[in-house]
Amino acid sequence: MALVVQKYGGSSVADADGVKRVAQRIVATKKAGNDVVVVVSAMGDTTDELIDLAEQISPLPPGRELDMLLTAGERISMALLAMAIANLGHEARSFTGSQAGVITDGSHGKARIIDVTPGRIRSALDEGSICIVAGFQGVSQDSKDITTLGRGGSDTTAVALAAALNADVCEIYSDVDGIFTADPRIVPSARRIPQISFEEMLEMAACGAKILHLRCVEYARRYNMPIHVRSSFSQRVGTWVRDSIEATDTEDGEMEQAIISGVAHDRSEAKITVVGVPDKVGEAATIFQVLSDAEINLDMIVQNVSAAATGRTDISFTLPRTDGQTAMAALNKVKERIGFESLRYDDRIGKVSLIGAGMRSHPGVTARLFGAIANAGVNIEMISTSEIRISVIVDQDDIDAAVQSAHAAFDLDADQVEAVVYGGTGR
Ligand code: ASP
Ligand code: MG
Repeated sequence: MALVVQKYGGSSVADADGVKRVAQRIVATKKAGNDVVVVVSAMGDTTDELIDLAEQISPLPPGRELDMLLTAGERISMALLAMAIANLGHEARSFTGSQAGVITDGSHGKARIIDVTPGRIRSALDEGSICIVAGFQGVSQDSKDITTLGRGGSDTTAVALAAALNADVCEIYSDVDGIFTADPRIVPSARRIPQISFEEMLEMAACGAKILHLRCVEYARRYNMPIHVRSSFSQRVGTWVRDSIEATDTEDGEMEQAIISGVAHDRSEAKITVVGVPDKVGEAATIFQVLSDAEINLDMIVQNVSAAATGRTDISFTLPRTDGQTAMAALNKVKERIGFESLRYDDRIGKVSLIGAGMRSHPGVTARLFGAIANAGVNIEMISTSEIRISVIVDQDDIDAAVQSAHAAFDLDADQVEAVVYGGTGR
């Protein structure tokens, strides 16, 4: 008997029919002789609707209350799902994150899981129940207040529970048949990736591939918990995310790792340029200390050589667009002290990234990528790389063209269209 943890995203339980369909899948897994723990997200766009509602009441709602509100979305779907399973003649019990033992730190809206103590889940499983757990939420160890893990956090709940319960597999269901070489909405000929290593998936998630939450992949890597990403709308095999050592033995015997796994893109960043920074020791340190104090996560950073005539330089960096105004305000406060000339803010940008462990041992990947982007007539504004990734910042209107040209340049296109988007939200 295996222990299976399944996570269903909002698009899989968008309405009553969706809930019933998912219930059938869960019961089939149980009937096949498995213990089943299910993590569920809020129905459809519920979380967005709740955020909208809160914004109508208050421009800046207290974090504690916003978390209390948002976790209600998952409570709705978990209870309905348990009812649907009961209707099919099986026992199911729903649990909030707190009841399931998901213990977090106290930072509302982006809490980190610090422990999982799933005693109640264990007992319910031992009694033959199917367990349904509300995703994306926990309880703060110190304040005992309800917390949320950040948007898309149900994936992380699923992996954390799977690790704590020592599950055999963690299946993450969405509305696409796995992870593709690019977003099928931009590249219809994108190919399903049969399996991908944790490190490549981490880069993909960090670069905007929304199919898996970044924290969930970090967690899975830390606990070496294999994830099977697949669609709840089909029976097809999806993508296995697992340790790279195992990555050679694939389900259909594909042997060699491709050089490039995929192309990711991200529309959520903005770029700030600090213009005319005096070229003195410690200026960059001060600027980035100010941003760090404001708790802003930076992505790319570029500093130009200072102009000999002026002794000044420009520093540009990218950051989540949602932090843009906070960062501008924090920097403006120290303008006199640092003595820079001005700040420029640009949120009409996008990031396109090429990811593949094979680029470590294959020279020429960068040249081929930049050639393809140039042929598409797209200008590159910033560049950053890691061992297994090359990212470029382009104008937001050029994102699609850059993704398409990169995808074609590395022969990632499928022979026939295989990407089906069943739902519509990609989650
Ligand atoms: N319902 C939450 C969200 O929309 C959590 C999740 O879907 O994973 O972000
Ligand atoms: Mg959701």
